[in-house]
Amino acid sequence: MTRKISILGATGSIGSSALDLVERSPDRFKVTAVTAATNAQALAQIARRTNATLAVIADEQKRGELQERLAGTSCRAEAGEAALLEAAAGDADMVIAAIVGCAGLQPVMAAVKAGKIVALANKEALITAGELMTDAATAHRAIILPVDSEHNAIFQCLAGNSKDDVSKIILTASGGPFRTASVAALESVSPTEAVAHPNWSMGAKISVDSATLMNKGLELIEAHYLFGLPSERIEVVIHPQSTVHSLVEFVDGSVLAQLGAPDMRIPIAYALAWPGRMETPAERLNLARLGRLDFEAPDIGRFPALRVAREALEAGGAAPIVLNAANEIAVASFLAGRIRFLDIARSVEQALAESTAAAPRSIADVLEIDRATRERVEASMTEICD
Ligand code: NAD
Ligand code: MG
Repeated sequence: MTRKISILGATGSIGSSALDLVERSPDRFKVTAVTAATNAQALAQIARRTNATLAVIADEQKRGELQERLAGTSCRAEAGEAALLEAAAGDADMVIAAIVGCAGLQPVMAAVKAGKIVALANKEALITAGELMTDAATAHRAIILPVDSEHNAIFQCLAGNSKDDVSKIILTASGGPFRTASVAALESVSPTEAVAHPNWSMGAKISVDSATLMNKGLELIEAHYLFGLPSERIEVVIHPQSTVHSLVEFVDGSVLAQLGAPDMRIPIAYALAWPGRMETPAERLNLARLGRLDFEAPDIGRFPALRVAREALEAGGAAPIVLNAANEIAVASFLAGRIRFLDIARSVEQALAESTAAAPRSIADVLEIDRATRERVEASMTEICD
């Protein structure tokens, strides 16, 4: 049977990897909808190539350009928030959630409420909505399949096991491009250096998150919501080769791990073909050539973002939303050359310390906490720069 796929964030790094797999298996998959933020040209190309029936550009001002570029095709060109929600909740069995940031929250919720199988890369959506999303998934019989490589690894290790038999999960982290850098060196690293990840090729925002280790902090929270374990049963270990994608320790002392080349097409394929598997062109693991696998404890002194994120997880309530919003603004400011690398974790910690937001009771509350935090952190950026 052909699985109908909607790809939110089709022009991005995850979107492109998903398209690569889907286009190699035209018998198994049919792309129905594709979306992007602002690049109408790239989106129209994807829509034409895949014969999608709906293409949505988030930027309303690009509606005309998208319509022109899709003229003469059977693909409907739309723009704006409501159309994004339509792409998420419409004609598809599976939604690949690959928008970056909290911008993806409402589309992911729309997919969940429509009872889709959601292949979730957009970790920020789950981190900000938390139980509102997992409860909605239960209520609407949606299935959330983790695409993030670590969570996908854990999901694979859990298959066939009872959650009650899990004693802890261990997330691996590459350590990013500055794993061995001194604090003095970290003071002056550039956006170009921060985005150059040693093992993975990814979008700019998650690359900076990997460099600060905020990505692993966000992943702690993501793991908490996906697998229902408390903070003290989720560990982080640095593993520079990015070969062991994560591990699960069971009550009997057995530890299962999932290994593979650092190629996002492997976890994406696992979600696409779930509950089966499919071929991928990913490089095969050659353990003899690899020779060794290294592990070390994370250095929270040099990478405080990991500590700050864990504190946000343990605080609960609005803290994960504030953490994420502050981080999104700080990363954008760093990429724009407005603040320095170490200011990222500092601003996030400050935003959390100053937050008085109550726990959200609805997605509207989440969006309001997100908006208010962005505004507040944006204002503090101006102070840092002055
Ligand atoms: P990216 O920047 O390469 O792509 C983001 C996509 O989202 C693009 O298609 C863009 O057009 C769209 N987009 C951005 N802002 C938008 C907005 N405001 N409204 C609508 N669409 C918008 O990012 P990426 O690296 O592909 O990451 C996507 C998500 O997957 C992130 O949440 C990231 O943390 C997660 N993830 C990525 C990787 C990876 O290897 N790239 C690995 C694990 C998890
Ligand atoms: Mg990851």
